[in-house]
Amino acid sequence: MQIYCSSQLHWLQQTIRIIKTDQCILWPFKLFPSGYGQVHVKGTGTTQNTAHRAAYHFSKGAVPKGMYVCHTCDVRACINPAHLFVGTPRENFMDAVIKGRMPRGNRHWNVKLTTAQVEQIRAEYKPRVITMRALAKKYGITSSQVCLIVHNRTRCYS
Ligand SMILES: [Zn+2]
Repeated sequence: MQIYCSSQLHWLQQTIRIIKTDQCILWPFKLFPSGYGQVHVKGTGTTQNTAHRAAYHFSKGAVPKGMYVCHTCDVRACINPAHLFVGTPRENFMDAVIKGRMPRGNRHWNVKLTTAQVEQIRAEYKPRVITMRALAKKYGITSSQVCLIVHNRTRCYS
């Protein structure tokens, strides 16, 4: 079923088909104020959608309901399918935490963790032995951040 329609989407479909680069491919059309590429969508109840979601849809299949399409490259206007992955809202949130993309004004989220550090925190955490508080101190983040990191693996995949 063709739910997307516009010349922009023809560009998108053709570009996706011939992509042979690891570089970011920026959406050359209108962007949302948030920086995501903007496309018009018919038949979905909403008339607008993001270009990177459309790119994912065309290259890898429909995006499961309620899921986000995230960027590994962190470039919001990028539509290279190689840089796109589907995540739960919580994973998307964690992705933002890991990349230090949370609002600057909030000191709790200013810490930038690498993916390796997040894995390490998960590996190190042992209830009642290695506490979240200890890990928070070790990595210079808050206990609630440790909590999010630790529990992300075991829940919220409904
Ligand atoms: Zn990219």
